Amino acid sequence: MSEQPTSSASSPRLRVAPSPTGDPHVGTAYMSLFNLAFARQQGGRFLLRIEDTDRARFRADSEQQVYDTLHWLGLTWDEGPDVGGPFAPYRQSERLDTYRPYVERLLADGKAYYCWCSGERLAQMREVQQKTKQPTGYDRLCHGKTREERAALPGFTDKDPVVRMFIPDDAPLTFEDLIRGTVSAPRPDDQVILKADGFPTYHLAVVVDDHEMGITHVVRGEEWISSTPKHVLLYQWLGLDLPKFAHMPLLRNTDKSKISKRKNPAARLTWFREEGYLPEALVNFLALLAYPPILEADGTEREVFTFREFSDGFDWKKVNPVGPIFDLKKLDWLNGVYLRELELGDFTSRLLPFLERDGVLSGNPSLGELGRLKAVAELIQTRIAHLTEASALVRPFFVADDALEIAEDARGQLKDDAGQVLDAALAALGDIDDQGTGVLGTDSGWNAAAIEAALRKSIVDGLGIKPKFAFGPLRTAVSGARISPPLFESMEILGKASTLTRLQALRDSL
Ligand code: GLU
Repeated sequence: MSEQPTSSASSPRLRVAPSPTGDPHVGTAYMSLFNLAFARQQGGRFLLRIEDTDRARFRADSEQQVYDTLHWLGLTWDEGPDVGGPFAPYRQSERLDTYRPYVERLLADGKAYYCWCSGERLAQMREVQQKTKQPTGYDRLCHGKTREERAALPGFTDKDPVVRMFIPDDAPLTFEDLIRGTVSAPRPDDQVILKADGFPTYHLAVVVDDHEMGITHVVRGEEWISSTPKHVLLYQWLGLDLPKFAHMPLLRNTDKSKISKRKNPAARLTWFREEGYLPEALVNFLALLAYPPILEADGTEREVFTFREFSDGFDWKKVNPVGPIFDLKKLDWLNGVYLRELELGDFTSRLLPFLERDGVLSGNPSLGELGRLKAVAELIQTRIAHLTEASALVRPFFVADDALEIAEDARGQLKDDAGQVLDAALAALGDIDDQGTGVLGTDSGWNAAAIEAALRKSIVDGLGIKPKFAFGPLRTAVSGARISPPLFESMEILGKASTLTRLQALRDSL
């Protein structure tokens, strides 16, 4: 057991400790955010520890996903497997030698014992306990026995034994929680702390590592409340200082059920990125789960705020222990707010991965394409709620005129007068002079205002068709869709030649 400096109260050390068992859960970001908010407020440190002792559930790509998603959210750590730190290694599978002396000491002190019971015996025991309505838990057949004594009895396994805690009858079942006050938990079973494969279980590893890494505040999900008495016992037995505990509420669906990766796509952190949410919107959303909005000096509440504001005013007492409802409608709203606030260049570059994914642009667009994209981006920035919606709106600006597909629903909407409208538009727009010096038609006659004026004059005034119906066929012709960015600006960006070619193509197809 190494001697570690215990962190002074003035420099808190917090951690998030995900298990790499698949796509990271949104709860990992939620925990990271609250840990980090407090750590930053206090000038403390936040570390990332990978708890990979469950080899059966281990998934090799999961650790990288944890890094990628937390980095994407800007929830970054000061110490961790990828960045190192004074308490490295930060991956539990690389710390097996650290745990062993703690186990030896517990065995020597009679706080823990070897167990050779076979899996079949344990299953049978559980079945009998359930049938006879007894409390389930290990029946201590191995306690106090040598290997030889135990081998003489049934249900013995020749493999390496596990090590179990010997939970005393008077084990403390309450502990103090920063969010919940005094918490009671059920009496634990004789928990396995070292498995036959030589790996510690979570319970031993978490206590040893939190101690060794100088963790002062253990902030984690509510699901660990029932495990905390085991951890408290281990701290006591090993003579270690107890950290402070804060158990965050579980995130719930609108029907109050727990958010699970099996049932909810939104439980997967990667989902939010795929669906075109902005990381700053998701962080703001998570900060509002079980936590109040910012209270302004004038008594009003503000739901849109930065991480810095959240961290500056952070207080454990404000966390509501009742499981918050994970309401994606709220996130959609926040996402829209953040999307509209982005500076145009930033908004444009955030679209790029989605446009590449959907085959609208290559991963290496030309300067000309980027210029056109920025012009289109300006038209759609206030019109989308997710970055994923951009591809459909942007695509018409990047396809060849003869490759533009007309969607069935758009074609289906065309009225009998569509041909007349298209003919009038072709004539009116054909007269606009598009020669000029400016980029995208500025300084030339081909600009949104001139286009609009010409079309209104010939179609609304000339043909007497109401504006509501006048421009539908034109929209369909230039974008192929029923919904598109504003028509006249779109035509300006496309240029005169493309616009006329598209109008003519739809006219010819009628
Ligand atoms: N490895 C545990 C988890 O993935 C960490 C629990 C804790 O923070 O103590 O939930």
